[in-house]
Amino acid sequence: MPFSKLGLSDPLLRAIADAGYTSPSPIQSQAIPAVLQGHDLLAAAQTGTGKTAGFTLPLLHRLSQQSFSANRPIRVLILTPTRELAAQVGESVNKYGAHLHPRLKTEVVFGGVKINPQMMRLRGGVDVLVATPGRLLDLASQNAVKLDKVETLVLDEADRMLDMGFIRDIRKIIALLPKKRQNLLFSATFSEEIRKLTTGLLVNPVKIEVAPRNTAAETVEQIAYLCNKADKSALLCHLVKSNDWQQVLVFTSTKHGANRLTEKLNKVDIKAAAIHGNKSQGARTSALSGFKSGEIRVLVATDVAARGIDIALLPHVVNFELPRAPADYVHRIGRTGRAGEEGQAISLVSHDELSALRVIEKLTGKPIRREQVAGFEASATAPAVVPEAPRTPPPGRRPQQARKPSGASGHRPRSGNHA
Ligand code: AMP
Repeated sequence: MPFSKLGLSDPLLRAIADAGYTSPSPIQSQAIPAVLQGHDLLAAAQTGTGKTAGFTLPLLHRLSQQSFSANRPIRVLILTPTRELAAQVGESVNKYGAHLHPRLKTEVVFGGVKINPQMMRLRGGVDVLVATPGRLLDLASQNAVKLDKVETLVLDEADRMLDMGFIRDIRKIIALLPKKRQNLLFSATFSEEIRKLTTGLLVNPVKIEVAPRNTAAETVEQIAYLCNKADKSALLCHLVKSNDWQQVLVFTSTKHGANRLTEKLNKVDIKAAAIHGNKSQGARTSALSGFKSGEIRVLVATDVAARGIDIALLPHVVNFELPRAPADYVHRIGRTGRAGEEGQAISLVSHDELSALRVIEKLTGKPIRREQVAGFEASATAPAVVPEAPRTPPPGRRPQQARKPSGASGHRPRSGNHA
């Protein structure tokens, strides 16, 4: 079904055309009519499925059909786990609402930055508020935000919010909302905790499930370049230059590793920037926007920092080191090959990582092609060239972990990405 048949107004259809979307993604064709009709929604969908437009478009449609009251109370509240995701959702709301008349007012609030400017911006009234839970509660406790006119609550990446310990904050926020409202919940996984939350929250929800990324990784070409650890930086520089890659997201396992690699890339004139937890919000935002605009060619990120980053149709993702948790591999490569486009996921694998590579293959059920690059071969004496199937799981990696659904990240540390 084309976008034009989903019941969205012309200004929204124009914004969709501006974005270059030709047809709705599966989640959009199911979510848009349901949200337009005012139903609650329970959607199993990860980043990359087009979920943001799936809830933003119909909510903007509904808001723009109503008249404005003078003080512009918050009518749509969107909660997200991280500031990056909050900022991106805010951008989407503005992008899709660009042709609406009158323009809707959107604000984004998150922790880690000064609260006063946010209070000032909220004073004039906003229609749509995108927030991380901690900062929203801070604002509410200082009477800087009123939530008693909220008509729709969206919980985006609900599983991550629970992973990050936000359940009590979410419950406190819900207590501040009118009893009668529309609720939309998006989550990649459905743990017992999520089920508990949805039971009290959603009323006869429309249930939507789209293929999890574990299986959607079909469109991603996966290659492991076997090499020596010491050659990884040089190999990455070689790959970027010889293939003329213009936009590469590289994952490293540590913040220091990310900084070191960034320096090395910049030294050989490959414009690179790092994002990780030690970087200021300003530095992260500018690195991300530089990367999106093409000014920065290589973005080096740690897993935590990269969560929720939305970069459309990223052609190349590189694992400079394999992730410690195999499910993170699926998350990482989920950043390429979006919306049915082809993508390439490259892993630089030294011999000590071969067993981790096998655990990942078990999880995804797909063999990863092993190759070597001339001049950067794994040295003949290292076991990297003739990989042996490990009889026992590698130390510290329990086999059950490999079977965890993606996103079931109870093992992750509580992130500091919020207030
Ligand atoms: P999301 O899952 O909301 O993070 O969206 C993932 C990416 O897909 C975003 O970069 C969107 O711009 C893009 N996208 C969303 N809807 C469509 C569509 N119908 N066709 C093509 N790309 C889309």
